Amino acid sequence: MKQKLKTLLSKEKIQKRIAVLGKQITSDYKGKDLVIVCVLKGAFMFCADLIRAIDLPLTVEFFGVQSYGDNTHSSGIVKTTLDVDISLEGKDVLIVEDIVDTGLTVDYLLKHFLSRNPRSLKLCTLLLKPDCIQQEVQVDYCGFKIGKKFVVGYGLDAAQLYRNLKGLSVLT
Ligand code: 5GP
Repeated sequence: MKQKLKTLLSKEKIQKRIAVLGKQITSDYKGKDLVIVCVLKGAFMFCADLIRAIDLPLTVEFFGVQSYGDNTHSSGIVKTTLDVDISLEGKDVLIVEDIVDTGLTVDYLLKHFLSRNPRSLKLCTLLLKPDCIQQEVQVDYCGFKIGKKFVVGYGLDAAQLYRNLKGLSVLT
């Protein structure tokens, strides 16, 4: 059966929210040594827009994770596919994620980056599914809280497809 897409968040709505997040991050990180860690693959588009909304000197690193499961359910088994190869000691690290669903991936990320002795460690996620949380994690910046449905677009995939959609849609 062919799957249908139903718009959840338009590109305009996403960009407006990113401008607000960018201002908030700019004000919180003044005078700090900001390192943005973009979590691949899903966060690449969000991260590209977010960093342009932050009016501060910053550097960007990429971290790859694969969480195993079927197409639409996370198993909680997480594997690093690309690590950050600079020292993060004394840096103010901001992890940029696409979505917090069960919270298991972010829990893994926070533990991994805490062991690298940053001066501070925070999390910014575009999307949060509060009804799906299995592992409580601290979310410092959140774009939108959404329901349980599986979403695609704006960097997020289903079996590697749909990442190029300009907005976010629910796969029905
Ligand atoms: P977790 O369940 O560990 O919080 O989320 C694991 C990963 O599953 C996320 O980083 C994301 O890549 C993927 N994921 C969770 N929910 C969705 C969703 O609704 N859509 C898409 N495309 N990926 C999701």
